[in-house]
Amino acid sequence: MALIVQKFGGTSVGGLDRIRKVASRVKQETDAGNQVAVVVSAMAGTTNQLVSWARDIGPMHDAREYDTIVASGEQVTVGLLAIALQNIGVDARSWLGWQIPVRTDEVHGAARIESIDTELMRARLASGQVAVVAGFQGIAPDGRIATLGRGGSDTSAVALAAALSADRCDIYTDVDGVYTTDPRIAPKARKLDAISFEEMLEMASLGAKVLQTRSVAMAMRHNVKLQVRSSFSDAPGTLVVNEDAIVEQEKISGIAYSPDEAKVTIEGLPDEPGTAAAIFGELAANHINVDMIVQSATGEGQGADITFSMGRSDLARAMELINASKDRLAFYNLSAAENVTKISVVGMAMRSQPGVAKTMFETLAERGINIEVISTSEIKISVLIASEYTELAVRSLHTAFGLDGED
Ligand code: ADP
Ligand code: ASP
Ligand code: MG
Repeated sequence: MALIVQKFGGTSVGGLDRIRKVASRVKQETDAGNQVAVVVSAMAGTTNQLVSWARDIGPMHDAREYDTIVASGEQVTVGLLAIALQNIGVDARSWLGWQIPVRTDEVHGAARIESIDTELMRARLASGQVAVVAGFQGIAPDGRIATLGRGGSDTSAVALAAALSADRCDIYTDVDGVYTTDPRIAPKARKLDAISFEEMLEMASLGAKVLQTRSVAMAMRHNVKLQVRSSFSDAPGTLVVNEDAIVEQEKISGIAYSPDEAKVTIEGLPDEPGTAAAIFGELAANHINVDMIVQSATGEGQGADITFSMGRSDLARAMELINASKDRLAFYNLSAAENVTKISVVGMAMRSQPGVAKTMFETLAERGINIEVISTSEIKISVLIASEYTELAVRSLHTAFGLDGED
């Protein structure tokens, strides 16, 4: 007998028929004699709707109230799935974050899980009852509901699997597994049988939303046996495993893109120590994450220019902060672009094989795609380009790095 955590995403619970199908998948596991905890997301589209209502009623809203609103979608799906299970003779109950409890830190809207109390749940699981757990939510130190950031149900599932020392954590979604790139924009994307934690971590943080970044980090830290597979078919999925378990290492394992980027350029800054520290210090103090940064200065008294990229949702605040410091920072022009996308190639083998940057830049140049900003790390190269070229860039790079499978 095994203890299994299953997680079903928004599309998988996107209607009553789909919820009934999820119930029968869960029953397959209980029929096999396994203990099952199921983590579910809100129905597809629900969280987006809730987020936009919260934004529309007050753009500078209280993050605690935002959490109260956006956590509600999961409350509906856990109740529905518990009833669907009961209807087919499976003992089940729903659990909200605060009932378990899943304790988080105080950062409402992007909270981290600190602990999960599994005592009560273990007893129920041992008695044969299925636990249907609301993903994406926990309880903050102030006693109020906290949410884990978009896509956070993946992290709920992995954290629960770690806390329960589960034998497996199966993430059921609307694609068959992890692909070499997003199969929705590149028809030649290939499903990977396995991917290393390190590569999955990079892919996720660079935009591959099939797993939330934090869920991968947590699975890696706690050695959770993690698998991504389809809710709609029995096709084998993708295992996320330690690097040494990957037999054949390809040069590049995948291409990711992140469309929600913005670019800021500050021109004519004083070319002297402390300038960059003043700008980025101010942004950091306001919890604004900056990603790629380039600075250029001729050293001939012309001043310095700084360009950086960041999440689009923070752009308005960042511009306001920089503008407010115009006198202190002494620059002469500030501009921003919202229509930019970050494209990244990821692969462990990049560490030992030169030429990846050359192939990437040449491929983009051949398609007439201009690179606005570049950043690299040991296992990835990212570039910022105009959003209109996203699909062309992803598909061309996918072909150039020999990743294409069947159409
Ligand atoms: P869920 O609601 O099940 O959590 P998500 O929409 O969050 O599903 O994540 C699944 C989606 O991730 C897929 O539909 C796919 O478009 C996208 N995706 C992006 N990159 C990849 C990739 N490399 N492999 C698989 N899916 C990807
Ligand atoms: N419902 C939440 C979201 O859409 C959490 C999740 O689906 O993982 O972000
Ligand atoms: Mg998701």
